[in-house]
Amino acid sequence: MCGIIGYSGSENAAERIVSGLKSLEYRGYDSAGIAAFEENKVRIIKTVGRVSALEHRIDECGGIRSGCGIGHTRWATHGAPNDINSHPQVSGRVVLVHNGIIENYHELKTELISQGVSFVSETDTEVAAAVIDSEYNKAGDPLKAILAAMPKLTGSYAFGILFKDVPGVIYSVKKGSPLIVGVTDNGGFISSDTSAILRYTKKYISLENGEIAVIKGASTEVYNSRGESVKKEILTAKWDAAAAEKGGYSHFMLKEIHEEPEAVKKTLGIRNRHGYIDFEDDGITVEQLKNINFLRIVACGTAMHAGLYAKYAIEKMARIPVIVEVASEFRYSDPILSDKDTVLIISQSGETADSLEALRIAKSKGARTIAVVNVIASSIAREADNVIYTYAGPEISVASTKAYTVQVATLCAFAFELAYSKGRLTEQDLMYYSKIILHDLCEAIEKVISDEERIRGIAQELYDNENVFFIGRSLDCALVQEASLKLKEISYIHSEAYAAGELKHGTISLITNGTPVISLATVPEIYEKTMSNIVEVVTRGGKAFVVCGSDFPDNSAILYRYELPEIDRMFMGLVGITAMQLFAYYMSVLRGNDVDKPRNLAKSVTVE
Ligand code: GLU
Repeated sequence: MCGIIGYSGSENAAERIVSGLKSLEYRGYDSAGIAAFEENKVRIIKTVGRVSALEHRIDECGGIRSGCGIGHTRWATHGAPNDINSHPQVSGRVVLVHNGIIENYHELKTELISQGVSFVSETDTEVAAAVIDSEYNKAGDPLKAILAAMPKLTGSYAFGILFKDVPGVIYSVKKGSPLIVGVTDNGGFISSDTSAILRYTKKYISLENGEIAVIKGASTEVYNSRGESVKKEILTAKWDAAAAEKGGYSHFMLKEIHEEPEAVKKTLGIRNRHGYIDFEDDGITVEQLKNINFLRIVACGTAMHAGLYAKYAIEKMARIPVIVEVASEFRYSDPILSDKDTVLIISQSGETADSLEALRIAKSKGARTIAVVNVIASSIAREADNVIYTYAGPEISVASTKAYTVQVATLCAFAFELAYSKGRLTEQDLMYYSKIILHDLCEAIEKVISDEERIRGIAQELYDNENVFFIGRSLDCALVQEASLKLKEISYIHSEAYAAGELKHGTISLITNGTPVISLATVPEIYEKTMSNIVEVVTRGGKAFVVCGSDFPDNSAILYRYELPEIDRMFMGLVGITAMQLFAYYMSVLRGNDVDKPRNLAKSVTVE
């Protein structure tokens, strides 16, 4: 999931590269590096650790004066995070940064070693550099060398490449990993995403798999995999630079939680044209929805949890069976699909490798695909039959918050529209629910956010525990999966989420004196059942914390209760998740963790 960036032009390249790497750090932060032409020679500075460490190293080395260079922030897949394995990697005359995995690197390396090529790192990236260098030695032309190397490399890549004897020019190519080319009057950029170049330009070109960009100052040429020049459309990024900055908050995660109501309004307000939310402008008509009798939702991580919420909403409102699957499993399960099926893919970045592949498999089997995506013109958005964009703005914190909330709100609106198409809801019902989403939901989330101090107080009581359990039933069971994931991701506390009634079939053996058990209870029909499960854990020494509706019964077994604002029950759990996100946030802060960049994780998982 590494981030790559490059600049060629009349301005300070190092400044632009370092600034871009800071924005790309959400993609990995094991090491960072830069390579730039200085007086026609390539100078490389790289180091294990964060971009701030690289910045420091550049200063120590007296700065870099260059108008052309490439940079990298790494999430290591092949080779431990250390200085040698950091990018840029060099082989002969080729200097390269890489996002992706070269799957056949081992065979290629063995072959190249037999031809006398030597390697210094353990990375797959150095092998790619060596393949391109060997082709460069034969062809004598950078473009021809890249074209010849591409069929030899299997796996995924976005490369930024400098040829030592071609000063001032960046070559870039992608297959399976995201890559855009930024356009300005004084020079051109390459980048893994638009957020890294927003300070300098909103204009960009989105590269397709197999396309090669050659950037020489303000002139950019794009070639297809046959080496023919292609004309590309220049797009305009919708986000501005401020959206990708902390804006006075101590962490991006906190800022992004605060942005949830706005993100919901922005995403669904524009679809509320007839007094109710519909998806006609996304090309999804009531007539089409009427034909959906079964839905498969495929996603990863938090987006998959949004899918679990959607399953509940769709089954309850539209009475259509829904299966939710993890993309990395779906893609290797030989899924049974036909042209009668609809597959819904959810991905914040629109670049999640497993979800993208799942989409392709679904399409290849004839299924209709609908994607819920936050990044305009991302791969999943481009390839799906229909795309429902969420307008959450850039999400920088690795732990997803506002993207989840918006995905759920959007999928609930989708569930209502589906129910309407089946005659299960009237237009009046749609108006009622649209008002709930655009007004009541946003207001309830704001109320929870204004309760931040109380939530911090609960975290204060629990932050030194090493195990936390979450339980819930029905929709709350789906939701506690997300609450538990958020806590694990950023606090590093071991946490399990269980169906409240299932606990006694195994995991209750882990409840010992003082183990915190957090229950989510927002579904009144099963309050009593949840209460019995709470009493069961307290009987075994567990400490019961409850996040619930105000009508949840009281019981002396409960040590602490946090009541959620009153709202239609379809949405109370979602509001509960905002509370849980804030809880996880403060647990992480109190434990002194790097909230926005949790260890071992990275956002936008573009590798398998
Ligand atoms: N495979 C490369 C490495 O380990 C790039 C990893 C990535 O893009 O996540 O250095």
